[in-house]
This record gives sequence, C-alpha cells and structure tokens, in this order.
Amino acid sequence: MSETDRRTFVAGAAALTAATATAAAAQAKKDPKAATTAAAAAYPKPPFPVQRQPWPGLASKMNPRPDHGEKSYRGSGKLAGKKALITGGDSGIGRAAAIAYAREGADVAINYLPAEEPDAREVIALIKAEGRKAVAIPGDLRDERFCRTLVEQAATQLGGLDILVNNAARQQTRPGIADISSQDFDDTMKTNVYAPFWLTKAALERMESGAVIVNTSSEQAGDPSKDIVDYAMTRAAVLNFTKGMAKQLASRGIRVNAVTPGPFWTPLQVSGGATPEKQRTFGESAPLGRPGQPAEIAALYVAAADPALSFSTGQVFGATGGNGQPG
Ligand code: NAD
Ligand code: MG
Repeated sequence: MSETDRRTFVAGAAALTAATATAAAAQAKKDPKAATTAAAAAYPKPPFPVQRQPWPGLASKMNPRPDHGEKSYRGSGKLAGKKALITGGDSGIGRAAAIAYAREGADVAINYLPAEEPDAREVIALIKAEGRKAVAIPGDLRDERFCRTLVEQAATQLGGLDILVNNAARQQTRPGIADISSQDFDDTMKTNVYAPFWLTKAALERMESGAVIVNTSSEQAGDPSKDIVDYAMTRAAVLNFTKGMAKQLASRGIRVNAVTPGPFWTPLQVSGGATPEKQRTFGESAPLGRPGQPAEIAALYVAAADPALSFSTGQVFGATGGNGQPG
C-alpha cells in the first residue's frame, strides 16, 4: 500500500469508527434492551427481609418478587421452531429460561412439583402469550419411572425434543455433616444427580443431530460453601457430567453445555436453601454486591442452546456477579 493509500485507508477507518460510534449511541437511546440495563441498576441489594417458606417455595410469595424477565426479555428468533423441556421451569432460573425460550420462538414444556402449580400457571400463561405451545407436566423427579414418562410426554405433546434443560435442584442448608441424614442426602442426590442422568438417557432416545442438553451447575461446583456440602457435590457432578457427555455425544451432533449461576434471588434460597443470616445478606459477597435476578441469566440459557453456537459444546456459561468461574 502506498503512503497516500495508507493515509486514505486510516482516515476512512477513523470516519467509519466515528460513524459506528454515533450510530451505536443513537441505537442505545432507542434500544429496547436499555430498559433491562436500567432495571439492573435498580435491582434489590441486601439487606433482605428474612423469610421462610416450606420447600419448594413459590416465587409469587417472595419479598421482593424475583424478576424473571416477564416484562423485559425480548427475543429475536434464535430458537425458532425448537421444542424444549425445562425442569424446574415454574420459578427462578428455570422460569427465566422458559420465558426467554418462548420469546426466541421455542415451544416449551415445563416440569415442577405439584405444590408449585400456582407458579407454573403463570409461566404457562406467559409462554402461551407468545403464541407458543406450552406444556405443563408436574411430577417428582426423584422417581426414575416418572423421569421416563416426563420425557415421553414432553416429546409427544411438543411433537419432538430438541432441547433438554436439566435445571431442577434441591438445596437444604445444614450446619454440619452430622445434620445431613441419609434421607436428606438421598433426596438431594436423586433430584440433582440421578434425575439429570435419567432424563438425559431418556431424551437421547428421541434426540437427533442438532439437539442440545443444557445443565444447570453452580459456582458451588468449584467453591463450595460449608453449610450445603451435599448440594455443592451435586453441582460439581453435573459440571463433570456435562463435559463427559459433550465428548460422548459429539459424534452424534448433539451438544451439551452447562450454566453456572452465582447467588440468584429464587425460592430455593428462602425455602431451606439458606440460613436466615445468609438470606439477609444474600449476594453481598459477590463483587456486584447483590444477588442476580433470574432475568439476568436467561440469555445464557439461550446461548447454551443457540444453533448459531454450533462449535460450543462441553462449555461453561457463567453469571456469578464477579466471583470466579468453576472450571
Ligand atoms: P427454584 O426453587 O426456583 O428452582 C428449583 C426447582 O427445582 C423448583 O422450582 C422445583 O420445581 C424443582 N424441583 C426441586 N425438587 C424437585 C423434585 N423432586 N421434582 C421435580 N422438581 C423439583 O430455584 P433456582 O435457584 O432457580 O434453581 C434452579 C437451578 O439453579 C438449580 O439447579 C440450582 O442448583 C441452580 N443454582 C441456583 C443458585 C441460586 O443462588 N439460586 C445458584 C447456583 C445454582
Ligand atoms: Mg419452584
């Protein structure tokens, strides 16, 4: 390139950069996402009112109520025509994923416990409001037979299965290992480890190339708290399972990814998942100084399943508010 050409090129590039910046600023002003940014600035910070609900708890009874993106999430057809099953889709992170998936064009089946019917009804209504098919399948994931039935029913009613989100989990705080009964341990393992195993096995009988499995893990997988050791073990197991299955299923064209939340304001934390003191200060130890709202992680569930990210499998998508990511 001659010196004159180089100068012309540099000047052109500078003009382009300035024009892009101006366009970006103009776009930001009318960008519908700006509302989400403003919402984030206003999201609640600790101290929180200490509250207690019986397990598994309802989002509708939390104070403050979590934001699952009901008013803010905007889709752009990323999951158009996909058929997804989301466990724990009634509340918290699973509800945020369900809303986002429907707004990205997917038909969605959700599983939850029968006691969570009021939360589930709200989610079903939100999915239907997008003109998508919404399927509600309540039942207990600790039962292998139910896990098989759940996948069968979801695939039949949706007309196929492209995405499985293993998101349901049980977390009950206990001060010491002596306080964790074998029944407790069994319930946590069955819900958090066995169910994703059973559901994955059943789903793979129906999935084709292009399908995706998304597992919810946690920052707890790499940095366990002292009073939820059984739960933290399960989040590590799920992360490991994600990476192994990604390798196993690569040849079938099926991807497996994980999402790792940090502290999120959900029913899990107010129905036995956290001590009253941890609840009061919830999110304080994250560099952002507050818990995440489920709306703030929904886009990662979309990314983890997005067909555009076809080279991403065995990946870990994080939202920890500034704390480290488990490997
Ligand atoms: P949540 O209470 O809203 O969701 C958990 C869901 O699990 C419940 O809604 C319930 O439907 C389901 N569930 C529990 N036991 C079940 C059973 N036996 N059968 C069927 N369903 C059952 O809470 P959340 O925080 O949104 O949890 C979702 C996921 O996020 C979990 O995997 C959890 O480990 C993970 N996570 C949460 C946090 C957090 O701070 N909230 C942090 C890291 C990871
Ligand atoms: Mg729930």
